[in-house]
Amino acid sequence: MRVVLLGPPGAGKGTQAVRLVGRYNIPHISTGDIFRKNLKEKTELGLKAKEYMDKGLLVPDALVVDIVKARLVEDDCAKGFLLDGFPRTVDQADALETELDKLGIKLDAVINIEVEDDILIGRLTGRLVCRKCGATYHATFNKPKVDAVCDLCGGEIYTRDDDKEETVKNRLLVYKDQTQPLIDYYTKKDMLKTINGETDTDTVFVKICKALE
Ligand SMILES: [Zn+2]
Repeated sequence: MRVVLLGPPGAGKGTQAVRLVGRYNIPHISTGDIFRKNLKEKTELGLKAKEYMDKGLLVPDALVVDIVKARLVEDDCAKGFLLDGFPRTVDQADALETELDKLGIKLDAVINIEVEDDILIGRLTGRLVCRKCGATYHATFNKPKVDAVCDLCGGEIYTRDDDKEETVKNRLLVYKDQTQPLIDYYTKKDMLKTINGETDTDTVFVKICKALE
């Protein structure tokens, strides 16, 4: 099973990724993770990426593709993989297709978890974090027993700047601008499976599995 997973912040992508890799016994390839690994192990590709990052520049597409490609030829990817955070652009998607062609393989599907903005905003802005131990809560779905006090350590609970409404709205806009061309691209290739992510995680998981079968 070779799958790309797309979804806005707050859509529950992380939770579904964990369940999918368990069910299909494939590695979860997150670009964030492989970048960190390459940087930590000071691989040739990691060092190249670091040069750009140290200058505050974006790592060029070609280098991102090389880093992902190096991961996709590792043994554990023989049975498939779940790509998360890549491709981010149509250019990267084209490059991915070219590289997979060279390996004689194809993507099976692109799963797009869709959730209305209002619901995403509700999920993301309700997040609360303990200042002391970092435990997370939610103003609606997972309240602490005592208002503004951490159940675990008694520390103060607050809303991070990242989780404030204006910031969240902006993140969603950026995500949409960036992802729409990719959604159009995979729709044209008849590979996109859109899944409603507004229900509970079990239901969403069942829908994704059905879409993949
Ligand atoms: Zn705490």
